[in-house]
Amino acid sequence: MIPPPFDYFAPTDIQEALDLLNKYGEEAKILAGGQSLMPLLKARITTIPYLISLSEIRGLSYIDERKGALHIGAMTLDCDIELSGIIKKRFPILADAAGQLADPLVRNMGTIGGNISHADPSNDLPAVMNAIGATMIAKGRKGSREINASDFFIDTFTTALDHGEILTEIRLPFWGNSSGGSYVKFKKGTWNFSVAAVAVQLELDGKKVIRSGIATTSVGPRTLKMEKAEKFIIGKELTEDTIKQAAEMVARDSQPASDSYGSEEYKREILRRITTDAIKNAHKRAGGE
Ligand SMILES: Cc1cc2nc3c(=O)[nH]c(=O)nc-3n(C[C@H](O)[C@H](O)[C@H](O)COP(=O)(O)OP(=O)(O)OC[C@H]3O[C@@H](n4cnc5c(N)ncnc54)[C@H](O)[C@@H]3O)c2cc1C
Repeated sequence: MIPPPFDYFAPTDIQEALDLLNKYGEEAKILAGGQSLMPLLKARITTIPYLISLSEIRGLSYIDERKGALHIGAMTLDCDIELSGIIKKRFPILADAAGQLADPLVRNMGTIGGNISHADPSNDLPAVMNAIGATMIAKGRKGSREINASDFFIDTFTTALDHGEILTEIRLPFWGNSSGGSYVKFKKGTWNFSVAAVAVQLELDGKKVIRSGIATTSVGPRTLKMEKAEKFIIGKELTEDTIKQAAEMVARDSQPASDSYGSEEYKREILRRITTDAIKNAHKRAGGE
């Protein structure tokens, strides 16, 4: 299928990209890997007269370990996230999610910034951002600002980015030494997107959980942060009963819709099971027994 005509710009610095965004306003959109935007244009679900590609701007693709946080450039490819040694060591939860995202062809083109900015409730990386407590760096003509993941994902395809802003970097704050995370995705058949998925990040002090982040994919209008379950497991040892109760809270607090992949109750049951698996795996990775 052929997309409607558009003007294509490939600025070589971020300021030029911001000027173009400002000049064309609502008629312009950023193009990153094109793996969500181009299918929408080709199917003529949307028309965008001006596309501003970030692909020629240097310095937007990196994974840097800095003091206190891992800094990831917005144009870093999903395949580079999946295969990065530092991400596997520091945030295996993110390597889990990137490795299960779509297929190698899509991962070779799609970017972390695009996956997050698109804010499709079925995209895998937003839940991981919520579980880790990431900070997004947005650049506009007037400067940069930081947005916490918990404030970033507002609704389906809607983020806290203003129209004139570009997401340039994602910062993942380091958790303590006894921490670990896991992303568990349940999908059906050959369809890449999940029926339901859950991201769990934990930190332990001895046998007790001292910090937790839990968020879901595909079971609401956006990724949902499971605050009740997060709070519930803090200060507790992860016994079978505690895990069961936390998984029940996630199933209850999610907002699944019945569709061709299953009923609402079926999806809640999937959530109970995958949350149990994700908590157990995160606990193991955090050094728990
Ligand atoms: C066959 C197929 C299967 C897929 N399966 C999955 C899956 O299982 N899980 C999953 O998570 N995703 C999946 N995807 C989506 C894929 O991960 C996309 O790559 C991703 O959602 C968008 O990233 P992109 O870099 O391609 O962004 P684009 O498609 O280029 O852009 C997407 C949107 O984000 C905006 N945008 C992009 N970058 C920025 C930025 N830096 N600042 C501000 N706005 C920006 C664009 O304007 C656009 O609105 C699939 C895609 C395909 C085609």
